[in-house]
Amino acid sequence: MLFRIIKKEDFKTFVNLMLQTTEVIAPKFIKNNAKGKPIHQFLPISNYDEMVLDYEKCEFSAKTYFLPYKNTLSTFHMKDHDWTQEIQYRIQPRAIFGLHPCDINALVRLDKVFARDFYPNPYYISRRKNTFIVGIDHLPCDDGFCHAINANHITHGFDLFLTDLGDRYFVKINSDRAFMAISEVPIQEITDEDTKDYLAVRKQISQSYKVSVKTDDLPNLLDIEFESKVWKKWGDKCLNCGTCAMVCPTCYCYGVTERVSMDHSTGKKIAYLYSCNLLDFAMVAGGHNFRPNQETRLKYRYYHQHRGFVESYGEPMCVGCNRCGRSCLAGIDPVNVIRDLHEEEKL
Ligand code: SF4
Ligand code: SF4
Repeated sequence: MLFRIIKKEDFKTFVNLMLQTTEVIAPKFIKNNAKGKPIHQFLPISNYDEMVLDYEKCEFSAKTYFLPYKNTLSTFHMKDHDWTQEIQYRIQPRAIFGLHPCDINALVRLDKVFARDFYPNPYYISRRKNTFIVGIDHLPCDDGFCHAINANHITHGFDLFLTDLGDRYFVKINSDRAFMAISEVPIQEITDEDTKDYLAVRKQISQSYKVSVKTDDLPNLLDIEFESKVWKKWGDKCLNCGTCAMVCPTCYCYGVTERVSMDHSTGKKIAYLYSCNLLDFAMVAGGHNFRPNQETRLKYRYYHQHRGFVESYGEPMCVGCNRCGRSCLAGIDPVNVIRDLHEEEKL
């Protein structure tokens, strides 16, 4: 990894240069919510001034640019008693600016599932490899617990990573293409003063986390608390809406459906993002539902995030962004669920 300094006016030039050749996605201000707090979303921008890099939270993650809610996997054409199949991968270059460390770590989690050596997913890989990732440091949001789950630092999975030093950015350069791209504008070697300022910002960030919750022993705790009353307490509140999985940067379960035209001349195979909290997620042919109540469905999501994924990949799937807690209409916040499990352990 290389470290450099870029002045903010040169960074603006860099973004505008990129806009000439590449679709750029960035946090964009939408409007204020009912409490007067700004709502930001990752959306395409057409000029630098639309980009808000000092945002606190984005309601949705940038997952949709890698795993769209609806994705056509293949199209079939039937003709003269024969058929052909057409498959299209998204290969157009795209850049996503302003990802926080938890969201970059979320992509690294998705890489483990979709870009692994066996059965890699070409739809995901083509989007991932053609997307230039620019992350940024930030003061912790008020309800995130990324630090408790060790997802507040990044080591890989990005091209550039910025730390705001006032009039300039401290830049981590993590790929050849990032070095080539940023070299189009003036960048400087780091000085002792830059290092001092960078460490001061990092110290301020590390001292500003607000949410305290213990997660390191969660896989064992979940094993012990499989029959806990905690699942009924929170499960009974669940509306089975699936919102938590849709906003989550790492939930990736999907269903596949086929659509055939009325004259049977064409058909499509389409993947839709799905959620294990939805009523029919575990329903099988014949109508039997392996998870018939809210309690078991809610529990399953926590077991996948904090236990099953750890067994398979050595770390939890959850990155502690708390989008699920923030968006849940029933007020189910993962921090409270995990705290309740710890309370059960003491009984
Ligand atoms: S967002 Fe809340 S109510 Fe909706 S499925 Fe998730 S936990 Fe249940
Ligand atoms: S806090 Fe919720 S939304 Fe965020 S990664 Fe974890 S499960 Fe997903």
